Amino acid sequence: MDYYICLDIGGTNIRAALFNNKDIHPIKQIKIKTRSEGLKAEGQIINIIKDIWPIKGTVKAIAAAAPGFVDSEKGIIIKAVNIPGWENFPLQKYIQDKFKVPVLIGNDARLAVLGEWKYGAARGHHNVIYLTISTGIGGGVIINDQVLMGSRGMATELGHTIVLPNGPICSCGQAGHLEAISSGPAIARYVQQQVNNGVQSSLKLTAQITSKEIAEAAFRGDELCISAFERAGTYLGIAIANFIHIFNPTCITLGGGVSLTGDLLLKPTKKVLNEVILSNEYIKDLSITTAEFGDNAGLIGALVLIKNRDL
Ligand SMILES: [Zn+2]
Repeated sequence: MDYYICLDIGGTNIRAALFNNKDIHPIKQIKIKTRSEGLKAEGQIINIIKDIWPIKGTVKAIAAAAPGFVDSEKGIIIKAVNIPGWENFPLQKYIQDKFKVPVLIGNDARLAVLGEWKYGAARGHHNVIYLTISTGIGGGVIINDQVLMGSRGMATELGHTIVLPNGPICSCGQAGHLEAISSGPAIARYVQQQVNNGVQSSLKLTAQITSKEIAEAAFRGDELCISAFERAGTYLGIAIANFIHIFNPTCITLGGGVSLTGDLLLKPTKKVLNEVILSNEYIKDLSITTAEFGDNAGLIGALVLIKNRDL
């Protein structure tokens, strides 16, 4: 039996799935912490591949969805801010040397759009924008049935679009990026700042407050928390309007934990989108959908990468 191993490497967890016959339903799935007791991410990657390796049969290929700036042609992680030490890290060669099978790597959001477009919420569309809104904001774009990669596979870093010059500092170090305003940690940081400035809230603030807790307080009617999502949703809408003008999609798929708050985020997004769009022609046939595979979109996309290369 032929097997395929797909990885999704995140700042917190590494997940692995074992597929056979290139069927999109994994026969086994496991996860481990990205860093554990002195072990670095690269050591954990080797551990999880060994753990999921089938007892019998042949592993034909491994594909990994990785965070940050990924040169998928050269197989190098140029930089991943969530994984310390990963600068110009040759991930493809590192895995290939250990396991002696073909290895493919790609940016996690670019692979997620591939998964959602081939098998998930965006199937049937030819032009798609995918945004994952969680700890960071990742982007992937399908144009005329192709993933838009750019010259080094680094195109469509949609979360690092400037929406507020001189605004909050982003995880990348630059100011005013969408990710610095509309990601989960950015929403939490905004609420904390407002409370520090004396704005009233029903929330008991802790240093670890999450956007999920802020969403729950917003659903209970907390005005500060509602306004935090209004702000995040408004800037998301401004960014999406820009993306629509550039890419002219028929489908926008939203993944990541923050997108699960539904109308709390999306009502202000849609409101501003209607106000700033150049023409209704851009949005009259546009569907805005929630990702079908959730956390698994990157794993499915990694499998699609293997299928496309016919490994
Ligand atoms: Zn940024």
